[in-house]
Amino acid sequence: MADEHRQPEVNIGLVGHVDHGKTTLVRALSGEWTDQHSEEMKRGISIRLGYADATLRRCPDCEEPECYTVAETCDEHDTETEIVRTVSFVDAPGHETLMATMLSGAALMDGAVLVVGANEPVPQPQTEEHLMALDIIGIENIVIAQNKVDLVDADEARENYEEIKEFVEGTVAEDAPIVPISAEQEINVDLVIDALESEIPTPDRDPTADPRMYVARSFDINRPGTKYGGLMGGVLGGSLVQGELEPDEEIELRPGREVEEGGQTEWRSVSTDIRSIQAGGESVDSASPGGLLGVGTGLDPSLTKGDALAGQVAGPPGTLPPTWNSFEMEVDLLERLVGAEEGEEIENISTGEPLMLTVGTATTVGSVTSARGGECEVALKRPVCAPAGAKIAINRRVGARWRLIGVGTLTE
Ligand code: GDP
Ligand code: MG
Repeated sequence: MADEHRQPEVNIGLVGHVDHGKTTLVRALSGEWTDQHSEEMKRGISIRLGYADATLRRCPDCEEPECYTVAETCDEHDTETEIVRTVSFVDAPGHETLMATMLSGAALMDGAVLVVGANEPVPQPQTEEHLMALDIIGIENIVIAQNKVDLVDADEARENYEEIKEFVEGTVAEDAPIVPISAEQEINVDLVIDALESEIPTPDRDPTADPRMYVARSFDINRPGTKYGGLMGGVLGGSLVQGELEPDEEIELRPGREVEEGGQTEWRSVSTDIRSIQAGGESVDSASPGGLLGVGTGLDPSLTKGDALAGQVAGPPGTLPPTWNSFEMEVDLLERLVGAEEGEEIENISTGEPLMLTVGTATTVGSVTSARGGECEVALKRPVCAPAGAKIAINRRVGARWRLIGVGTLTE
């Protein structure tokens, strides 16, 4: 069973409206396996960004696409199935107030499954908003799961399919396959796997690139009352976007921490060493991109407690992109608001307005210090570490919540 613990090689997001069946589909694809391996750190990650590893398999004796399965033996042939690949599903919360979490999760996605309930008119608010987010962040490898087909008759299913087709026309998902499924009754799971195999390939990775990790969560894993000598260092949860990481390596974290000196405060990067790496549910000697990692460090756990380092970037000292306290970005606004209050026009960004910006896994609030034409300059409450050219999801407060209004490209 050792091969069950392979590190996932690709991250696949599950997006779509609340209750359309994202979590149920993840369960159908990952079986019980993730439950058996849930331990504190992983549970911690899954609350914010539900994630589950799944090993996709195929029966050597069945035809495509029926050969695809998550079972270890094929019922029909009584043969052992072969591993195709291990993937990690990032299950974005569908609840509208968690859009920021969905956007920071999107930074870790190599592709996505858009789950659409067949029993409701298309699109529902977050069906549209999440698809727009994929578009903005540039996630092009998409599979559409038309779920809950068990609740509708054949004509309704066909009608709903046409609605989906029409809805995705002209979007990044225009050519995405639409797979009718019942996640709950595990119908057509083989077709979903077949679509994942053809539409969301494992990206080409350069193993010699400097390792770079996007931190999505951070923890203090010590039980309250642990004596000083028994304390474990702070733990980082996140995903490698390039390179390979090994225990004992030195890493730097940016933006790091806020330090006060002589009445002045500034952000300084933090350096530490890696003590352990958890991937795919076990300790590993080396980790590569794909799946979420838990990285044990030599950091004081009070620094990592309660997601304090979420949104930071880690890598070998001296290799990280710059830290920005303010930056300029080129702005590309959506034509209209998507999701609720649909159709409302989006006004230009104005000087002085607050914006919520998602850059990589970091979410920060900025105040616009100057806005002209397609560009604006923002001063950030909390700095971010990002390379020039980074894509930024721009959100504006509309009514009671932050709404996605466009995409920015960091210029300087
Ligand atoms: P999420 O909010 O998108 O993660 O949706 P969930 O996976 O939590 O599913 C919401 C509800 O729909 C749950 O009660 C599921 O049992 C149910 N559900 C999910 N998939 C199906 C399906 O294929 N058929 C039916 N009938 N119910 C489903
Ligand atoms: Mg869910």
